Amino acid sequence: MPKGGDLHNHLAGAVYAESYLDWAAGSGLCVETARLAIARPPCAGASRPLADALAQDPSLRDSMIDALSMRDFTPRPGDASGHDHFFATFARFDAAATGHVGEALAEEARRAAAEHVGYLEIMWYPRVRDSAALGLAHPWSGEDFAAELAAIRPGIPALLAEAKADTDQAEARMRTVLRCGGTDADPGCRVTIRYQTFLLRVLPPAAVFAQMAYSTALVAADPRFVGINIVAPEDNPVALRDYDLHMRAFRFFHDLHPEVRLSLHAGELTLGLVPPEALRFHIRDAVEIAGASRIGHGVDISYETDAAGLLAEMASRHVAVEINQTSNEQILGVRGPEHPFRLYRAAGVPLVLSTDDEGVERIDLTHEYLRAVQSWHLDYPALKALARNAVAYSFLSGEALATAPDGTPRPPGAGLLARSDKARQQWALERDFAAFETDIVRRMR
Ligand SMILES: [Zn+2]
Repeated sequence: MPKGGDLHNHLAGAVYAESYLDWAAGSGLCVETARLAIARPPCAGASRPLADALAQDPSLRDSMIDALSMRDFTPRPGDASGHDHFFATFARFDAAATGHVGEALAEEARRAAAEHVGYLEIMWYPRVRDSAALGLAHPWSGEDFAAELAAIRPGIPALLAEAKADTDQAEARMRTVLRCGGTDADPGCRVTIRYQTFLLRVLPPAAVFAQMAYSTALVAADPRFVGINIVAPEDNPVALRDYDLHMRAFRFFHDLHPEVRLSLHAGELTLGLVPPEALRFHIRDAVEIAGASRIGHGVDISYETDAAGLLAEMASRHVAVEINQTSNEQILGVRGPEHPFRLYRAAGVPLVLSTDDEGVERIDLTHEYLRAVQSWHLDYPALKALARNAVAYSFLSGEALATAPDGTPRPPGAGLLARSDKARQQWALERDFAAFETDIVRRMR
């Protein structure tokens, strides 16, 4: 079934552990066997060459795949929740991800094409660490955002130039891997890709603010970058402490650049993980203070103060929620009827299905559609509406197609198709639906 797009996916988490191991072994990286983590050379002390270790110990590959993903995750003393193991995987494969952005993009695009996903909005951007360093290079001026921006602004143009070169290089590498332009081009070449930048909410305020400033400049300067997100565990003590500050800083940049759109991880929390007071306001503040157009997860909506009012507000302002079922089960233990999907749907809040981290979770988007059917008994028209939302609520540029009262897009004029990326992607999806449905009917005869 055509699935429109995946609007919530992290590039690093989308890659399967098998790829990371192959890239690391091929690049001469090391393994810390005690931690089951990939490490940078020199391979000395606690680490040894990964390729040798894999050759000598046939069981190592299996244990490494489990350590780099949620495969076979089993609670044990000292690591009883999937939450801790999930987030720990990223540090174990980080060394292998470095220098393989093009390969990672190719893996995601290839898989998307095979699943009939025409559009990917990927959380990835170059110079993540450099942008944080820009903020840490001088003392944090506190709540004077204008002064803070003035202090870091001179460092931004050089980063933007490097970002353009890095992105060009990553995309060129992706096209080489997928053989784009050749007679045997991979179908992944036809997947439309845009990026969201992100801030790491667990870093010191000066670093987060600088990432915000650089991200805003990058989205304004390069049409491949279409929005900004905020990532890392929302229950982290620094993330909880600075939540308000982050929302107010977003507001500051939103007022300067209202055209730069935000999709914010918010409410990726549940009772027990944090005190109830932390469940009361994150989604509302992301919408009302930061000005988010979309919310990632939104799992704790029913714990928000005046949840019914907030749901009504999100529906009327068309703030979409990105639903990541497997991620929510693995990290938060929230699944099936405990998930607020039906609450959002009943309130008329627009929804999309997405993967979050398909490699770490060992899933794909098709699995999330199937799971939605199993959890909430959705029928084909309901799935089709979710797939349409995944393009309609994307941050692709341009005007959307007009729709009939039942949600069916109206045929666009040639002018709209020529000038709007979003309308083109929406219309391509409608053509895919028509072909899919014709084929299904033919098979059933
Ligand atoms: Zn996420």
